[in-house]
Amino acid sequence: MLHTMITVGQLTDWLRRFHQLVIKNQTELTQLDSAIGDADHGINMARGMTAVINRLDGEQPTHINDLFKTVAMTLVTTVGGASGPLYGTFFLRFASTAGPAIELDADTLHMALLAGLAGIEERGKSGAGDKTMVDALAPALEAMETVIKNGGDLEAALNAARDAAATGRDATVPMVARKGRASYLGERSAGHMDPGAASMALLFEALAAELSG
Ligand code: ADP
Ligand code: MG
Repeated sequence: MLHTMITVGQLTDWLRRFHQLVIKNQTELTQLDSAIGDADHGINMARGMTAVINRLDGEQPTHINDLFKTVAMTLVTTVGGASGPLYGTFFLRFASTAGPAIELDADTLHMALLAGLAGIEERGKSGAGDKTMVDALAPALEAMETVIKNGGDLEAALNAARDAAATGRDATVPMVARKGRASYLGERSAGHMDPGAASMALLFEALAAELSG
């Protein structure tokens, strides 16, 4: 098994990759939000992740909890929209579950991500099928768990998570939104991809890419 652990340095690179993907897809994320929201999701995520990367260029935390606490606080303070507090809660719960470790294995990474999901669901009062970022995140973590249980390594688990997040993102298209701004549209929200599910799929694309090269 080549990849059994992910280090704090690799987790920092994960955030850099996510930032790059957000910038690359910023216009598309904003276009998705213009159909069922207020046309700012790409702008929000780009502003937040740029602030995160600027912050991390000045300091490289040694411990995983310190890294993700910094990420969370930066997102909460720089992103005005709903996605700021939601991604902020995700990374804050990730931080406290990971603790002061300097690396995580597949199991402990999965547990930290699961805590992040629970944080979003509590803060957003949302769950599967509400047409939100949860619809990309939850299936990603289920897929990851299946691979781990079957003895797959970290790279295989993260590749499965990436694919499931993308499938979950696509599955938001026909859904009727029950949370967030898109829910104001009721039935008219159907037929459009949820922007937060799209950014969440990018987060898992970045994570899988980090382990595969
Ligand atoms: P805002 O809706 O305030 O403009 P963004 O456009 O940045 O914020 O983010 C919108 C995304 O946030 C949605 O596409 C959805 O995925 C997510 N979202 C909104 N409300 C909730 C919620 N209650 N629970 C989970 N995710 C939510
Ligand atoms: Mg918006």
